[in-house]
Amino acid sequence: TPGIRPLVAGNWKMNGTGASLNQLLMIGNGFMSGLDAETEALVCVPATLLTRAAEILSRTPVHVGGEDCHAEESGAHTGDISAEMLKDAGASHVIVGHSERRADHGEDDATVHAKAAAAWRAGLVAIICIGETRAEREAGATLDVLSRQIAGSVPVSATPANTVLAYEPVWAIGTGLTPTAADVAEAHAHIRARLVEKLGPAAAKIRILYGGSVKPSNARELLSVANVDGALVGGASLKAADFLGIAESY
Ligand code: PEP
Repeated sequence: TPGIRPLVAGNWKMNGTGASLNQLLMIGNGFMSGLDAETEALVCVPATLLTRAAEILSRTPVHVGGEDCHAEESGAHTGDISAEMLKDAGASHVIVGHSERRADHGEDDATVHAKAAAAWRAGLVAIICIGETRAEREAGATLDVLSRQIAGSVPVSATPANTVLAYEPVWAIGTGLTPTAADVAEAHAHIRARLVEKLGPAAAKIRILYGGSVKPSNARELLSVANVDGALVGGASLKAADFLGIAESY
């Protein structure tokens, strides 16, 4: 989208130990050499790696984020991690409402809405994920699902500064399958229209990322679609060469 600096964001999911940090260092070094002039970069890592990741990337333009947060600031929630804790560990962003969270942990739109607000409370940018399942697409319900998820998951105080949307068709995540460029264009135009309707004209500048089996070989086609303002990258973000290859396709 004209006037929007694209964001290429990685999501390591439940992958990575200290041995993986050399890949982060290579990503950081890659963005030191001019790539970041075009593209903003972020890698969301497991909470166990956040402090080390933030240290490794501190002298590079690459941001570090969390993959989920609890809606509350603190309290009796064993095993959960608050947005404030992510911020304290060096995160600047957090993914909320990833389809794996929605499926594995039963998170609904109201939960995702509360987590986005929690991210802002802690001073983090919320990356709010939406997207249809294969059954919903086959039923022709894709645009209705996106409308419903935007209505329920995106708080009205979302701005281009505090929020990024990620359109991730569930059936494209980790499968090697991708929608056609025309399907991506239709979904992103729909998301843009719903955001502007809900939030006002400023929402024309909210970044809308595409996610789902993005790799260096398909990034150029997917990322050149109208209203695609970057990518959310799962599997291919674990290898520095692949992640940098995707970023270079801009
Ligand atoms: C994701 O988990 O957000 C994702 C897009 O995964 P992958 O790139 O592996 O499909």
